[in-house]
Amino acid sequence: MIAFIRSLVLVDILRGLYITLIYLFRRKVTIRYPNEKGTISRRFRGEHALRFYENGEERCIACKLCEAVCPAQAITIEAQERDDRSRRTTRYDIDMTKCIYCGFCQEACPVDSIVETPNFEFATESHKALLYDKAKLMRNGAEWENVMKDDHSA
Ligand code: SF4
Ligand code: SF4
Repeated sequence: MIAFIRSLVLVDILRGLYITLIYLFRRKVTIRYPNEKGTISRRFRGEHALRFYENGEERCIACKLCEAVCPAQAITIEAQERDDRSRRTTRYDIDMTKCIYCGFCQEACPVDSIVETPNFEFATESHKALLYDKAKLMRNGAEWENVMKDDHSA
């Protein structure tokens, strides 16, 4: 009987409208992504990049510590000695579909070469596009150097 009376005087609808009215004047918590973006933590670990020195020389010395420490075995490195006897990678691949974004690779790197940028917008519809090679990682390095420089300057 009470339920019948409640439905007759539209109690639930009026309550719903009241709640809508209250929230109309509250601070908005939603954002209009991608036009608006929320803040992310400085410790956020996103898309990977290989960094350079200021003179354009790649930082990576092909020590393979990142490859060894990666728990997902997502990194594959091949290396060769240059004429000047420095070691450099000839292949640096990351299978981003295996990566668990643990950050171990960047922690292990002795020269701040492999880093995880704040970029989280690299979703794609193809598996192949997430198999990163050295060229892709270096392009990311060039794109994010200004941000990563500040983060790794301490
Ligand atoms: S973030 Fe972790 S899982 Fe991903 S490549 Fe680096 S070490 Fe491997
Ligand atoms: S990215 Fe760093 S840890 Fe990985 S091989 Fe290069 S220098 Fe070594």
